[in-house]
Amino acid sequence: GRNRHYMFMIRGRIPAGKMTTDQYLAIDDIADEYADGTLRVTTRQAFQLHGIIKDELKTTLQEINNSLITTLGACGDIVRNVMATPAPDIDGRQSKVQDFADDLSDILLPASKAYHEIWLNGDKVYSGKEEVKEKEPLYGHSYLPRKFKVGIALPKDNSVDLYTQDIGLVALFDDENEIRGFNVVVGGGMGMNHRKESTFPRLGDHLGYVSKDKVVDVVKSIIGIQRDHGERVNRKQARMKYLIHDWGLEKFEKELISRLGFELEPYEELPDFDLDLYLGWNQQSDGNWFLGLSIENGRIQDNQEFQLKTALREVVSKFGTGVRLTANHNVLLTNVAEEDKEKIEAIFDKYGVLLDDELSNAIKYSMACPALPTCGLAITESERALPDIVRDLDGVLNELGLEDEKLSIRMTGCPNGCTRPYVADIGFVGRSLDKYTIFIGGDAAGTRLNSKYKDLVERKDLVEEVRPLLEQYKSDRSNSESFSDYWNRVGLEEPEAVSA
Ligand code: SF4
Repeated sequence: GRNRHYMFMIRGRIPAGKMTTDQYLAIDDIADEYADGTLRVTTRQAFQLHGIIKDELKTTLQEINNSLITTLGACGDIVRNVMATPAPDIDGRQSKVQDFADDLSDILLPASKAYHEIWLNGDKVYSGKEEVKEKEPLYGHSYLPRKFKVGIALPKDNSVDLYTQDIGLVALFDDENEIRGFNVVVGGGMGMNHRKESTFPRLGDHLGYVSKDKVVDVVKSIIGIQRDHGERVNRKQARMKYLIHDWGLEKFEKELISRLGFELEPYEELPDFDLDLYLGWNQQSDGNWFLGLSIENGRIQDNQEFQLKTALREVVSKFGTGVRLTANHNVLLTNVAEEDKEKIEAIFDKYGVLLDDELSNAIKYSMACPALPTCGLAITESERALPDIVRDLDGVLNELGLEDEKLSIRMTGCPNGCTRPYVADIGFVGRSLDKYTIFIGGDAAGTRLNSKYKDLVERKDLVEEVRPLLEQYKSDRSNSESFSDYWNRVGLEEPEAVSA
């Protein structure tokens, strides 16, 4: 009979976005059999599947659960998928950061091991293995007040958007390229609510440096502070960024020291961060190659223009490549032998998939969240709207000779900010029916919050509202100044107050 139709979503726990050939092929099968035939790379290096479940909900979910090789557990008020640089080993450091992300992810799993979780319209409907919670030392009886995000960066490589995480770590190395310790950043977070002044995006603060042998203690103690002192009544104030905002960093540090019994060392000076998307061919430390594919909106699918899903399946199965999901919803295919590079390019070419140098910067540096119709919180379109907007913007950039600029353009369907739009050069955030707030002035490196530029802009007017900013930048900038550096120097006019 006709039962209710649901959109459902599986989010996988995949530390550092690292998957084996078999795991990728299993997820690809599941997408065909149980979802809508597409795969969605998320901005936290995981997969979402969307689809319609008709009958036999429970059996279907159990089958999915059985087919999944990786452990799931990417939702809920615990530590989410631990993020780390997605690049395979380039110089001896990347693999060490990823091994550490694996370990940390295991350490931070709840003892109850609610492994395979499947969520339906935001509610958990299935857990593959729900053991009795005898002892839950890290999370206590009531878990955390809200979800908790951890990301690990390398010096210069901020592809995980370190400053938007509850805890951001920067791995620092000794002369033998072993991790000696970490710079610790706390209290970042993107979500806000348009109508509530007390909610805001926030960049993490530099807390200090800790040696590797003590870092797990530090991470657990920080989580413990949030568990014991984070807001539990008002969910809109429950992220750790609000605790740190209310307390101030000094009080937070004091509490941490009293739990640890030692102080952190001073935060170590670092070179400027950058966003490396790792697109195109790059060489690994073992002499093999990896190929970074820009996936527009993170959507792996086949359509009339190109057959990305089929192409990926063919390449992954034929060449046994590893698969890495990046925080910019792209895919890296790893462990490619020199002699296979051309064959792989030919397969992508056969299926109409464009590679790095065939895509504009605007496309490569843009991100959209899924929003309508699959996200229950969406107010506006995002994934389905951004491709046209980016192409219009590309037109303007070309007209002005600005096509070489690396502008990050990020859209979301609600102020939760899943694509981290508040650190983008240009952010479009869903505000009310087909209207958006425009934010200007972050940077691709994720080290600066942008500011609100215009509110309640209709979707069709977004590009025209941004055009004057690009024009003035073009004619007035000094030398190599970036778009956002320019607007931070000159200053944006405060937007007029409007109400929805
Ligand atoms: Fe959903 Fe909002 Fe996140 Fe977009 S930003 S996926 S609409 S919660």
